[in-house]
Amino acid sequence: MDIRFDDQVAIITGAGNGLGREYAIEMARRGARVVVNDLGSSGSGEGQSASAADRVVEEIRALGGEAVASHDSVATRTGGQAIVEAALDTWGRLDICINNAGFLRNDRFEDLTDEQIDGILNVHLKGAFYVGQPAYRAMRRGGYGRMLFTSSASGLFGHAWQANYAAAKSGLVGLSNVVALEGSAYGIQSNVLLPTADSRLSAEMDPGFMEIPAFAAAVQNADFSASGGRVVPSFNMPLALYLVSRGCAATHGIYSSNSGRYARVRICALEGWVAPAGAIPPAVEDIEAHFEQIEQMDNWFEPMSVYEEFGAVAHAARLQGVYR
Ligand code: NAD
Repeated sequence: MDIRFDDQVAIITGAGNGLGREYAIEMARRGARVVVNDLGSSGSGEGQSASAADRVVEEIRALGGEAVASHDSVATRTGGQAIVEAALDTWGRLDICINNAGFLRNDRFEDLTDEQIDGILNVHLKGAFYVGQPAYRAMRRGGYGRMLFTSSASGLFGHAWQANYAAAKSGLVGLSNVVALEGSAYGIQSNVLLPTADSRLSAEMDPGFMEIPAFAAAVQNADFSASGGRVVPSFNMPLALYLVSRGCAATHGIYSSNSGRYARVRICALEGWVAPAGAIPPAVEDIEAHFEQIEQMDNWFEPMSVYEEFGAVAHAARLQGVYR
């Protein structure tokens, strides 16, 4: 095993089941000291139990690894603080934080209640702040850190009946991008993972979304021919662990792990259409006339900040002969 986490301390939230459990066990096998955080709630975020985290800690110790359990909720500020303190009180440092805890409360967009919206935003999006901020402060003090935020293909690409979850999960992309920008001054890297695995959450996927004809057709026509036996937590673990490893220089990225295909996901602006030079804005009709060009995918640019997008504009303007 070349990639090791000796002398490093990692927090993995929601590590009592599914993906997080897989990450925790393998990271401990590779030498990390791991805070196994899990509230022990159901796939819809009801109830709590210490046994989920405790079981994983026992598994790690049985393999000769080091781990402590944390039963706090990521969805409150005090819980987030306590999770980070578990690492600092036990081992005095923090190197890695994988924000992974979560659950689902699916429904039609128009029917989502505040309980469904707030519950999901709290655990996935605000939880990433509540754990991420004290974790970042500890990493900044140590001059080193690896953050991984768990987003979702549902969040970035879309899934009917998951507007609350998609909003929370895509919010993590913006959060991670800014953590990566600010963290670059302190040795802290941040990335986003879109995993795909059959887990407890699969049972929460109310098939009511099949009432949407175009979406139902997409589900029925999905090509799973390369996915047999591979939509499982263990196929997601290698990319997650690589992204938080010492040797990985990647930051400010989004990565997808699906059925053993590992890929960067990019948010790009296409070349587009540049309005004629000068300070007179185009008409709405000019946009209509150039809409095909606005959608044209031949040239694209991936700005890594607000300011880099101005460079993409200047490049497009030069290509189109509008400005030199
Ligand atoms: P899982 O239910 O097996 O594991 C999630 C764990 O989070 C559970 O053990 C649960 O008790 C814990 N948890 C829930 N609320 C918590 C809280 N407030 N504080 C601490 N722990 C809490 O599900 P999973 O599929 O392993 O999901 C892990 C993460 O991956 C989630 O964020 C999920 O949204 C995301 N994700 C999963 C998939 C997939 O296909 N399984 C796809 C995209 C994203």
